[in-house]
Amino acid sequence: MNFLESNMRRLTKIVCTLGPSSASYEDMKKLALSGMNVARINVSHGTRESQKELIANIQKINKEENLCIAILIDTRGAEIRTGDVQDPIEISKDEEVLFAPTTLEENIGTNRKIIFVGYDGFSADVRETSIILIDNGEMSFKIITIESNGSVVAKAEQSGLIGSRRHINLPGADIDLPSITEKDWDDIAFAAENDIDFVALSFIRNEEEVIEVRNLINEKNSNIQIITKIETQKAVKNISEIIDASDGIMVARGDLGAEVPYEYLPSIQDEIVTKCRDAGKPVIVATHMLESMIEHPIPTRAEVTDVAHAAMERTDATMLSGETANGKHPTVAIDSMDRILRAAETQLSRYPLEDVGIRNESEARAESAVSLSKSSNATAIMVVTRSGQMARLVSKFRPKVPIIPIVPNESIQRKMQLLYGAFPLLISFGEIEDTAHIAISKAKKEGLVSSGDTVVLVSDTRTKGEAVTSIQIRNIE
Ligand code: PGA
Repeated sequence: MNFLESNMRRLTKIVCTLGPSSASYEDMKKLALSGMNVARINVSHGTRESQKELIANIQKINKEENLCIAILIDTRGAEIRTGDVQDPIEISKDEEVLFAPTTLEENIGTNRKIIFVGYDGFSADVRETSIILIDNGEMSFKIITIESNGSVVAKAEQSGLIGSRRHINLPGADIDLPSITEKDWDDIAFAAENDIDFVALSFIRNEEEVIEVRNLINEKNSNIQIITKIETQKAVKNISEIIDASDGIMVARGDLGAEVPYEYLPSIQDEIVTKCRDAGKPVIVATHMLESMIEHPIPTRAEVTDVAHAAMERTDATMLSGETANGKHPTVAIDSMDRILRAAETQLSRYPLEDVGIRNESEARAESAVSLSKSSNATAIMVVTRSGQMARLVSKFRPKVPIIPIVPNESIQRKMQLLYGAFPLLISFGEIEDTAHIAISKAKKEGLVSSGDTVVLVSDTRTKGEAVTSIQIRNIE
């Protein structure tokens, strides 16, 4: 297929971050109608009241527009920030400044400009790195000496201004803070108690931290899914175990590109996407995808290529951050991302994927459904699935045609919004043949299949108490 014939459904999903440019009901609705699959609320910003308002708006849009946009709450994690200043501190290239924990505020004598850091462990952690980065590398400082009182003399590698509460990275250092802070626990509990679909965990370093969150979620009897953000060197090292412990992964390229030398970012991204595909866990490629569109109404050609690359490696979702949260052109940004993804998806046969492994019997069945869809020239794979699990497994094998998960409740329907190629339909379950019949007519009504199409239908039924998977070919009348 070429771009002139492409009116097919988009297989790669879009996550939009909400913020001042998209907080109002009307602005949010524009994003929803332009194809937002998941709305991301970054709880580092705003009050609980303003966050509740964003959630209520999405829920209202879902109801009024008959959509099923999922909600992702992104936690702050153990972030290090500079202190508050009245006016931004002006720094010249090669100037030596002093970084000091706020505890030293009262008794520090120096001629140098001081950048306070709101974290006591700073002086110890800084020993594990040679460089201090501000705002993901917008400014960098080479460490010269660490004084006995815990302050650090460092030389600016560029000129610039440092305002209040700027984000600090110490590349490679193992920050001596619990990854999940008290505020995060509170935010995770809030998300679990409010039927939110996904919670994203920041600055995670190992699977034990993910398991701790899983325990809280289980205690709360919530089916919220954990998306772990990969943004530290430790997380990259422990990636396989972290994927196993999580429900999905976000390649958080902003922090990751500061924590590792940025030239390694493309290969790390590719490795994480491949590993997630192999594990059958959804993966989001995030940050700076269309960054220039915060200001401009068209993307740079490099950004176009970056978004297309994510589609070509069959990532489940791509994410917009500042572009939709505080940019000047939020709707143009999502339209651009949609266009780039669709165009890339018409060319997928030019970018064959390495086969992923089949780990168990369920995966073997999912793989045979996908093979059958190819050999029978099916236009869709319908999956009757109570928990969504079978649809996840089918998605793992990245069929070229849409997957239509048939699910019994809205919460599961929304969880499918992060899955590559999935267009979930909500149907109340009855006898399997009745369910299949209703599902097919609903899929026809939604324009997902048409008369004359062949579809593969996967379903799990119970016969004499035993689960039996059936994979059938159906012709749509
Ligand atoms: P953030 O995470 O938006 O919370 O910084 C994304 C990233 O670091 O890429």
